Amino acid sequence: MTLIEASFTEWGEWFSENRSANYSVMTTLDINLESASRLIRLFTAQDGKVPKKAIRITGTIWATKNVKPKDNLVVLYSKDSPPLVLCPPDKISLIPQAATISQSTQKLNSPYHWRCLVCSTTGQSETLERHCGVNVRQLSHVSKKTKLWFEKFLDQATFSFIPPNELKQMPGMIQDREKIEFAIQAGNELQELISDLDLSCPTTFEVYNPRTNHIRVSDLKKKEGRGKGLRGALNSAIKYVDELVPPMKTAPKGGPIEIGHVFDELFANITNSISSNSWNKGEKVKFDCTELGLSVTGTPDLDYNGIPVEMKTANSLLVKGEEPSGNMNTYKSKWKNNYLPQLAMYSDARGMEWMLLLLIAKQSGRFSVIPVNPKAKLAGLRKEWKKWTKDKRMMDKLEQYLEANPSFRI
Ligand SMILES: [Zn+2]
Repeated sequence: MTLIEASFTEWGEWFSENRSANYSVMTTLDINLESASRLIRLFTAQDGKVPKKAIRITGTIWATKNVKPKDNLVVLYSKDSPPLVLCPPDKISLIPQAATISQSTQKLNSPYHWRCLVCSTTGQSETLERHCGVNVRQLSHVSKKTKLWFEKFLDQATFSFIPPNELKQMPGMIQDREKIEFAIQAGNELQELISDLDLSCPTTFEVYNPRTNHIRVSDLKKKEGRGKGLRGALNSAIKYVDELVPPMKTAPKGGPIEIGHVFDELFANITNSISSNSWNKGEKVKFDCTELGLSVTGTPDLDYNGIPVEMKTANSLLVKGEEPSGNMNTYKSKWKNNYLPQLAMYSDARGMEWMLLLLIAKQSGRFSVIPVNPKAKLAGLRKEWKKWTKDKRMMDKLEQYLEANPSFRI
């Protein structure tokens, strides 16, 4: 049996026997470790096979590599062996990258639930048909664990607006006074609108399906990657050219991915229920990727007075004068790899040099509306796309896709 839970002293003995007798203990927790009677082991990729009931941790465990672990972790470290990562049981829910294998997905069975993106009709069927001329979106029920998390969150969340000029600078954030004023007006209005609503946890969320029969804005962020990127999307779009995309058989459950999806749903519900002339649902856009010779479609989440708004959730907001609750590099890399590429393509599709980012903190419900100029990112992406054209195998696939979908050729 693999050891999953033990006292601090027992873990020390385990480490000496199984890894190295010479080690140091690193943590930012302010507790008396010697008397900690229960510490749960979190399995990293280096630990290999994860026992069935055990919790795994993805991504880095370090705030500063090999010096300072992320908050709430206790790390037994020796430079000659993999680290041992532990966590007090009451802190596990605070670690976003921790998930048990058995709890991380839920099964989806036939008949599959769906909703039409255009007219919002919902239904159930054996396959995912088209409605109003577009592929329907598959739905999953919100898991019990996430429902509880959300009820607690909605109970405590303040949904208070933090003006963008009170946030620490991130790549692309605009300091222009007029646009800051505009964003502040948008944020204040949204705060007011939300305060009038009686919010509850959504019952369903849209399931992300990496299989697709057309290339989307999000597919141009990367060339390849696990289930993501243009290469995978092209393979899928060619495979399902005249067919319905098969439904997903599982959905994320009880972790940060499901929580992110439920946030999207919550804000879609909010914008559907507010009667505002200025805040509206986002409209579909078409981005021309001239480097690759194809156009892709996507839909920004919201719209404020004609300016597209993309919504993202983060663990917390980086407010000036406040101690950051996570690693600055993680924030920066989220901006660069996740927020900016999408903002770059959406704003360009609308013929604009900037747009708004609605960033919501999952820990507090505080949010900001941030004017962002993603031009530098777009230039970087264009350079990348030019490089991709040298990949002959992928370009052949792209040609195959465009032959089957001539309306996307430019
Ligand atoms: Zn419809």
